[in-house]
Amino acid sequence: MVEQLDELYREVILDHFKSSAHAGTIPGAQIHQEGANPLCGDEVAFDLKLDGGHIQQVRFKGHGCAISQAASSMLAAQLEGKSLREAAALIEAMKGLMQGVEPAESIDLGDLEALAGVRKFPVRIKCAALSWNVVEQGLSEYSRQQTAHSTQKGQHPGS
Ligand code: ZN
Repeated sequence: MVEQLDELYREVILDHFKSSAHAGTIPGAQIHQEGANPLCGDEVAFDLKLDGGHIQQVRFKGHGCAISQAASSMLAAQLEGKSLREAAALIEAMKGLMQGVEPAESIDLGDLEALAGVRKFPVRIKCAALSWNVVEQGLSEYSRQQTAHSTQKGQHPGS
C-alpha cells in the first residue's frame, strides 16, 4: 500500500521506517505506554521523559508495518519540546486529519503531514493511529496519577 502513496510521502515514510532517530527506550521515563493494532500485527511502546509540564525526550520501540513504525517515529520527533497541552492538541489534529479535517494553522505537524495520504486507505488508518492512541493513553494515565497523587496529599495532610 505504501507504493500507492505519493512519491514524496513514500520517501518520508520509508526514511522514518528504516532508521529513526527516536528508536529506543528511556530508563526511568515518567510515561511508559504500550499498544497494538491486531488487525495488522503492529506493536509499539513509547517512553516519554517529562520535565515539568514539558516533554523532554521521546523514544519508541516496536515492530510492524512501515506506516505504524514511521508514524511512531514522526510523532516522537514532533512531541519533543512540547508542553503536555500542545501534545494533546497535536494528537487531536492528527485524529482530525485522518477524518479529512485540516489542522489549525497554529499546529505544526512536521513530517506527520506525510501521513495525510493514509486516510485514503481506511484499513491503514489504524496503523498510523496506533502511535497517537498509545501516547494519548500514556498522557491521560499520567495526568490521572498526578491528580490522584495531589488528592491523596490533600486528604492526608502531614502524613
Ligand atoms: Zn500496520
